[in-house]
Amino acid sequence: MRELIGESTWGQLEPAVTAALAGQATTFEAEVSFPKLGKRFSSGRLSPHFDQDGQVQGIVLLVDDITEERKSRLLLHEIEAYYSSLFNTPGVGHAEVDQASLTFLKVNRAMCDMLGYRQDELVGNKTVLDVTHPDDVELNQRVMAPVMRGEANHSELEKRYIRKDGTTIWASVCGTLLKGINGSPSRIFGFSQDITVRKRAEAVLAQAERNKDEFIATLAHELRNPLGAISNVLQLWQRSTPEPGTLVTIRDIIERQVGQLKHLIDDLLDLARISEGKIRLRPQKFDLQDALDSAIESVRPLVEARRHTLNAERSGRPIQLEGDPRRITQVFTNLLNNAAKYTPDGGEIMMCVNTIAPAAAQITIRDTGVGIDPSMLERIFDPFVQVDHKDDYGQSGLGIGLTLVRKIVALHDGTLIARSAGLGKGSEFVVTLPTL
Ligand code: ADP
Repeated sequence: MRELIGESTWGQLEPAVTAALAGQATTFEAEVSFPKLGKRFSSGRLSPHFDQDGQVQGIVLLVDDITEERKSRLLLHEIEAYYSSLFNTPGVGHAEVDQASLTFLKVNRAMCDMLGYRQDELVGNKTVLDVTHPDDVELNQRVMAPVMRGEANHSELEKRYIRKDGTTIWASVCGTLLKGINGSPSRIFGFSQDITVRKRAEAVLAQAERNKDEFIATLAHELRNPLGAISNVLQLWQRSTPEPGTLVTIRDIIERQVGQLKHLIDDLLDLARISEGKIRLRPQKFDLQDALDSAIESVRPLVEARRHTLNAERSGRPIQLEGDPRRITQVFTNLLNNAAKYTPDGGEIMMCVNTIAPAAAQITIRDTGVGIDPSMLERIFDPFVQVDHKDDYGQSGLGIGLTLVRKIVALHDGTLIARSAGLGKGSEFVVTLPTL
C-alpha cells in the first residue's frame, strides 16, 4: 500500500491503517494526494478482517472520491452564509412568506422592529395582509397577484403597515418569487424599507405647493381690490371735475387703498427677509405697554367700524423688554387686527397682560369671533394658510400675518400659541416674551 500510494499519502493514512490492524474499524475524510490522480478529497472506511482465532488477518479498505460532493457542500455553505447575512441586514426588513397565503415563514430583526411584533407573533401567525393598512390591502393584493400566481418573478409597491401599537408607517416593499425545487412549495421573499420620513416630507412639500398656489390666487385678489377702487375713482374724476368735497373723498379713498397695498407689500417683503434670515431687529429697552398702546391705536378704526368692544387691561407697572419696539407693536397690531377681522360685528375683544415667573410677560388676546377648528390651530401659522369661513366677514389678507408674527416673537426668544374651543367659539392668542 505504501509503495502504491506513495510516502506522503501513506503518512496521512498510516494512523487509520495502524488502528485497523490493531482490530479497530476506522474511517477518515481527508485531502489525499494520489500519485496519479493528484489531490482528491476522499472518505475511507477501514474494516479489520479477522481469522477464526480472532486475529487480524487483513484490512478491507473502501475509498470514495468525494471531491465534487465536497465542492458542492462548500458552495452550499457559502450560499447559506451569504443569504443569512443578506437576510439579517440591519435596517432593512426581510421576510419569507408563503406564496399562496402570504403567511410569514421567516422574518429578520429589522422586520420585527419595523412592525413592532416579536418574531414568534409573526411567523406562522400573521399574514402580510394582517399587518397592512386596510386601505392598502386591495393595492397589495393587486400588485402582488402575478407573483402569488407564479406568473411574475418580482413586484414592488409603496404601502402602509399598521404596527402592533396601532401606529402607521410607510414602506417601500419588493416581493420576489423564491421557486422551490422538485415540487417543494414556493415562497415570496419580501424586502421592506421604512420610508415614513420621506412620505411625510413629500406630504409637507405637496401641501406647501398647494398653499403657494392658493396664495397666488389670494394675492391677485388682494391686489385687484384696492387697484379696482383706485381705478373707479380715477374714472369718476376723468368724466367731470369733481366738487371740492368729492375731491377730499377721492383723496381719502386713494390714500386708504394705497395704504392697503403698502401693507400687503410690506408683509411680503418681511416674510421674504425672515425666510432668508435677513430681518434686522433694532433692539432697545422699552416698556411693553407702549407697544400695546400703539397697537391698540392702529386697530381702533377697524374696531370702531365693526362696532366691537375692546377691553384692554393695562399692566399696573412698567414691563421692560429688550427688543425691537416697532416689531413687537407689529405683532400685537396683527393679532388685534385678526381678532377684529374674524369676529362678527358687535363682538368683544379682550387683551390682558400678566407677568409670569421667572422673567416673562404673557399677553393674551381673546375674541368672541368665528373660532378655529382644532385641526387648524397649528396650521394657521404656516405661510399662506387661510381658513375658508362660511361667511365672509369682509376679511382681507394673504395668510402670512401669523407666520410673520410667530417668527418675530421667536426672534425675541418668545412663543406664540393659538387656542380655541372650536368653530364659532372665539379664539385666544397667547404671546410669551422674556422681560428684563
Ligand atoms: P390672514 O388674516 O391674512 O388670512 P393670518 O396669517 O393672519 O392671515 O391668519 C391665518 C388664518 O388664521 C386666517 O385666514 C384665519 O382663518 C385664521 N385666524 C387668524 N386669527 C384668527 C382669529 N382671531 N379668529 C379666527 N381665525 C383666525
